[in-house]
Formats: sequence, structure tokens, C-alpha cells
Amino acid sequence: MQFIDVPRPSGQFVQHLFDARHRALSAGLRWYWVINLIALVFLLTRFYIYRDAHLVLVDNLPWSYEWLLIAMGCVGLLLPLGWGWLSRQPHVIWQVSLCVCALAWGLAWAMVGYTISIVDLKGGFSFIFNLISLLLLTGLVAAYCDVRLFYALVSVPLLFLLMRASWSPEPFFLVNTIVVGVLLVVLETGRRMLNGWFELAVSREHDNLMLANKMNAMANRDHLTGIANRRHFDQVCKRAIAQGVILEMPLTLILLDVDFFKRYNDHYGHQAGDECLILVAECLEESVREPGDLVARYGGEEFVVLLQETDKAGGQQVARRIRETLAARALPHAGSDVAPHLTLSQGIAQWQVGETLAMLLQRADEALYRVKEQGRDGYGVA
Ligand code: GH3
Ligand code: MG
Ligand code: MG
Repeated sequence: MQFIDVPRPSGQFVQHLFDARHRALSAGLRWYWVINLIALVFLLTRFYIYRDAHLVLVDNLPWSYEWLLIAMGCVGLLLPLGWGWLSRQPHVIWQVSLCVCALAWGLAWAMVGYTISIVDLKGGFSFIFNLISLLLLTGLVAAYCDVRLFYALVSVPLLFLLMRASWSPEPFFLVNTIVVGVLLVVLETGRRMLNGWFELAVSREHDNLMLANKMNAMANRDHLTGIANRRHFDQVCKRAIAQGVILEMPLTLILLDVDFFKRYNDHYGHQAGDECLILVAECLEESVREPGDLVARYGGEEFVVLLQETDKAGGQQVARRIRETLAARALPHAGSDVAPHLTLSQGIAQWQVGETLAMLLQRADEALYRVKEQGRDGYGVA
């Protein structure tokens, strides 16, 4: 049945890491977006103040710096619309589009840096370096878990810083170039470290999840037969009843009991009895539809079958199929009074509106009891 623990395919962790990365990037980029908008507002305000104080060589502007900042702000404000669309795209499109956007955004920041370095009297290398490196560090925190996106974001501003360092007059040229190199080292080592912690955390989370799934599967499984146990049956059945209340879907339950099982044990031994129960479980599983129906060991040599979206007529069909499947296996039962092979008695009850699981089981049990009284190896409907 579907709840039984399946060995973990190796790709499962990769998928888990992929999902975690997607979540981390979504959160990180949102944060990066806010910081960028704040930085743009700051630069625009700074530009107006410096222009009025005649600290900006407006005539030297290579392009309208003011409009560049405003355009970046507008693109930034429109990004959430694109983000919604992008999130629904296949992964490859998502990743390629993000990288292209990141490259374009990095280019825009390089243009901002270039403008400041030309027109801003107070905007020497230090200011540009501080501004860009702050943004790059912000980009690191946002995109550390995706190496391609991270470098798409930081490569153009870094190249610009390198170029800007090379323009520095002779005594500062070397220092400025070294400091950009140091920034690159800080970014790359930081990315590796953060990504290492991230993958470790995801791997631990994945292991915990696997362990929880395994424990849950074990808690829901009957150890001997491998099918669902009573605990799992109760949970599923209660859920099905709650759904039946809402959807008005029929729901039928079959309670089954092995006939003369005590004699079987006495005659063939307890070990053979166990094997017999495993065979009965197999027959039951063969006789129902997957995945909607549920076969469970109710306890001892009693089983229960839950048939969703099935009325009692459908329940009788399944009961007949179970009887035929078991008869076809023809497991010898020397101690049985009704047949030379192993047989079952079955009580069928269809859930009625207002009925609890206990009430439904009670009616199925009464039907089963009547079958036992009438000679066994058959089914009865409540
Ligand atoms: P009836 O036809 O009226 O159902 O008779 P029965 O002998 O099947 O019913 P009874 O309740 O008298 O006996 C059930 C037996 O099932 C007694 C118990 O030892 C045996 N049994 C319960 N659980 C297991 C199990 O896990 N393995 C084995 N081998 N036997 C079990
Ligand atoms: Mg019994
Ligand atoms: Mg029995």
C-alpha cells in the first residue's frame, strides 16, 4: 500500500536541496530588492543635495544620472510583478532569466558608480568602493546559495571597481587594485562558507525529515504482514468519514476474521499461523483497488478493508472477490469445519450520515458475528 516506506531514491536529497535553495533565494532576493530601493533613494537624495551645494559637476554627466536612478527605482518597483510570473516558469527559464536580470542590474550599478566617479567631487574611489562593496556584500547574503546567480550579480560591478582602481593616480593605483582583489577574496570565501553551512543545514533537515517519515511509516505499519495497522486505519477512516460528511460520498467497510484460526495454529503451529496471516493480507491487497482502498490488520486474525466512494453493493463485490482470491490460493486447513482450505468470514457495513467510526465498526462486527453463527466462509451486510 502507498504508505509503506520506500527506499529513498538518491535524487530525493537533490530535490530537497533544490527546493530549499529556491526558498532561500526567494527570501534573499526580496531582501536584496528592499536594500537596493533604499540605496537608490539615498543616492537620489544625495545627488539633489550635492547638486544644490555645487558639489556635482553637472556638465560632466555622461547621461542623465538622475533619470538613471529614477529608472532603476521604477524597474525595482515593477520587479515584484515579474517575480510572480517568473516563479511559475520552469526551473531553467527561472534561472536563466534571473541571471540575465542580475547581469543587467549589476551593469546598472556599474553605470551609477561610473557616473559618481566622473561628476561627484566628493565621490572618489573610497566612496564608490564603499557603496559598491556594500551592495556586493548584500548580494552575497541574498544569493550565496546559487553560484551562477551570485556571479551574475557581482561580476560587472567588480569589473567596474577594478577598472576604476586602474584609473587611480600612481601611488594609489596598487592599493586600490589590491583592495578590489581583497574584496573578491572576501566575497568568494564568504560565499563558500555560507553555502557550506546552508547545504549542511539542508542535509540535516532532510535526514530529520526522512527519519520522521520512516518512523511515521513504521508507526502505521503492521510488523508481521507489512500492511497498515489499526492506528493507521483509524486515522484514514476518520478522515474519510469527515470527507464523506462534506462530499456525501458513500463509504463502506468490511471486517474480516479468519475462520477457525485457533485450530489452524494448533494444527500447523504458530509459525505457519503467522505465514497464513501474511497470505491473507496479500489476498486482501490483491482484491482491492489502489490507491483509494485501504487494507489493514485490525488485530490478531482480524482484518479490515476500507472502501472509499463505494456503497454496500460494491462492498459485496469486493467481499466475493476476496473469497475467490483466497479460495484460489487454497491454503489447506485441516481443522476447518467449513472447507478443506482456509476461509474468512466478512461483515460489511456502509457508513450512514451521523455515524462515528466506532458505530460503523460495531455494525460491521455484528454482521460478521451473524456470518460466524450461520456457519462462516461468507459475508453478511449490516
Ligand atoms: P472463529 O472461526 O470463530 O473466528 O474462530 P477462531 O479460532 O478463528 O477465533 P479465536 O478468537 O478463538 O482464535 C483466534 C486465534 O488467533 C487465537 C490467537 O492465538 C490467534 N492469533 C492472534 N494473533 C495471531 C498472530 O499474530 N499469529 C498467530 N499465529 N496467531 C494469532
Ligand atoms: Mg477473531
Ligand atoms: Mg477467527
